[in-house]
Formats: sequence, C-alpha cells, structure tokens
Amino acid sequence: MDNVCCIIIPVTRKILHLDLDAFYCAVEELLNPDLKHKAFAVGGSPNKRGVISSCSYAARQYGIHSAMPTARALSLYPKLILVSGNHTAYADYSAKVMKIIAQLSPLVEQVSIDEAFIDVSDLPQSGKMISKALQRNINDALSLPCSIGVATNKLIAKIANDYGKASKRGSKPPQAITVVPPGGEAAFLAPLPVRALWGIGPKTAARLKTLGIITIDDLAQIPDEKLKQLFGKSGPELGLRAKGIDDNPLVSEHKVKSISNEVTFERDIADQAKLLQTLRSLSDRVGRRLRKSALAGNTIHLKLRYADFTTLTRQITLSQYTDQDNEIYQTVNTLLKTNWIKGHPVRLLGVGISGLGPPMRQLNLWNQEDIREKKLLKAVDGLKDRFGEKIIRRASHLKNND
Ligand SMILES: [Mg+2]
Repeated sequence: MDNVCCIIIPVTRKILHLDLDAFYCAVEELLNPDLKHKAFAVGGSPNKRGVISSCSYAARQYGIHSAMPTARALSLYPKLILVSGNHTAYADYSAKVMKIIAQLSPLVEQVSIDEAFIDVSDLPQSGKMISKALQRNINDALSLPCSIGVATNKLIAKIANDYGKASKRGSKPPQAITVVPPGGEAAFLAPLPVRALWGIGPKTAARLKTLGIITIDDLAQIPDEKLKQLFGKSGPELGLRAKGIDDNPLVSEHKVKSISNEVTFERDIADQAKLLQTLRSLSDRVGRRLRKSALAGNTIHLKLRYADFTTLTRQITLSQYTDQDNEIYQTVNTLLKTNWIKGHPVRLLGVGISGLGPPMRQLNLWNQEDIREKKLLKAVDGLKDRFGEKIIRRASHLKNND
C-alpha cells in the first residue's frame, strides 16, 4: 500500500478531574473540629455586603450556596455560623494535596486552589481504580474529602465530576467518583442542559431556549453553518464540545520559576568597575540560559553579599518581558549603584530573573537598536553553541568599564 504515508494510532487518554469537597469548610473543620457536622460558612460580614465563599454540606441543606450574599444566607438560616476564613491555611493544604497528586503523574494542570486535571493515560489501572486510590490517599494523609471525574478528555472529566457531585447531594461531602467510558462521551452529555457546557452562560442558555435548544443533544444536532450564525467563529467549536470532543492538552505550569547565576570572589572586591564587569558577565549568562530555554522574564534580581556576610537582594519588575542580556545588565547595574555602599568589599554577586513565561514581545515595541542587539545575540549564541562559552566575550571585559 504505497499510498499510505502515515499510520494514525488513536490514543485513548485517561484524564481525571479532581475537586476537593467544600474545601475551605473542610479545612476549617480540621482547624476547629467543633464545626464538624454544623451548618457553617466561610464568608464576608453581612453588613459589609459580604458573600459566602464556601459553605458546609449541613448549611447547603438550608438552600445556602457559595457566591450568595451573606445577608441572604443568614435570612435563610439565622443560626448559620460565619467563619471569616484563613487563606494561609487553605493555600497550605492545597499545596499538600497537589504534592500527593504529583506522586501519581507528572502531567497535572492545577485549575484553582482546590481543583486539578491529572493525565493518567500511562498508568495501567482503570481510571476508577486510580481515582479510588487517590481519593483514599488524600483522605488518609490530610482528612480532606474530594470528588473525581474520569473521562477521555478534560471537558467530559470536569462535567462528569460536577454531575457526580450534584447527584450525591446530601448533608455529607459527596466523595463521588464518576466515570464516562471511552466512546460514551456524547451519550453522557446528550440529556444534560446546555448550561453544563463550557462557554455557555445564563444569557446564551436563555437565547438557545427561545430556539428550542435545551439539552446538549439539541445543540449537537445543529449544523456548523447554523452554529456560525448563532455564535460567530467559535460556533463550530461549541458544536464539537456538544458532541463530547475536546483535544485540549493539560497545561502544566512552567517548571522553572527563576534563572540565576552567582559568583563568589576569591578575594573580596571593592572596586565598582570590577563589580560591574562581573554583573555584565553574569547578565550575559542569565540571558543566554533564558534564550536556550525559550523563556523570558520580567523581574530582575540582584544579590549582593558583603565581606561580613550581610546579604541583600533587590529586584526591579520591568514593564515587559525580556530575554536580552543588555536589559538584564542595565537593570542590575542600576540596582548595584543604588544599593551598594560604595567602597564596602563584596564577597558575592548574583543576577537572577523570575516571572518567567514565553518570550512574547510586540514587534513594534522593538527599536532599531533592540533589533540589532537581538541579531547580535543570536549570532553570539550560535558561536558559543559551536565553540564553547569562552569563544567570545564582550569588549567591556577587556576595557574594564560598564
Ligand atoms: Mg471544590
């Protein structure tokens, strides 16, 4: 069969959507066990027009839900216990949960403080078995309940989880596990209201209702042309989602949070020109590492340690991202000149950059000089790749100035 140029092997993904059950309230119960089984809520004060950010399952029995004004919640159940919230503790527990999740798979997309997608396609066990074990692990280690949805994509895993949680509504955490088997996506979605889909808010749902489109299946039956008329360019994509099709990969955070280089001098240095020369070469190295990893950053750091080991770190956040040696150098140059006590011997200097992301920069923001510098750096990087780091150095190394 010489007309076959490639073989497509369909890969069935196994994606979990994990959501901690009434997370803030669950943490509050750990901090204060007296709250257990009681109708309480984390929220703002009623007279300051506060809202409920999380409520216990006992409180939900009275019709209280998150995002409801606190005053309204209290009118539904005057004995509702109000807790003001402890965000440090929530962040702490969230990090612990994410650590347990990370043991399962390196492919994790944390969506919020209490929600994450996990790609477990490479694990041999069934999604249900994996979910049961994960739910148990989190409960054993942290006493926190969670619910999990399992499907071949993020969209269905999330909707499955929401659906599973809602159908186990009661006075206790649902701890639901809901699995949509491969191939069952469209059938699972079909009877659900259109609101369950991403991208359909109350207004759109109301508009669709006037057209007789109520369930996701109704939406899935509409031809692309009509969807374009209704929703514009994004219409056909919505149609795909209604059929349960979602190829979006998990978006993991950037693993690298910062890049830095530092040097400890053999002998302490008190000469400004020598310090600047060191900053120059450290900046070049940081810039090169950025470009090698296809990253740019917006916060530049200077670290300075005096001979007596007093250490200071200072930083400047730029208005835009950079991966350019010169920009990094100009910034640390300023930081040194404004923070170093002139004449005091320095033991260590470091240059770093954080706030990392892809090197996006509007082209029109580059001036001619920037473009020239960028071309030069590219050429220099190429030479260093081929002949080693020491092949080329800035003239300032020789001239001893800044
Ligand atoms: Mg939650």
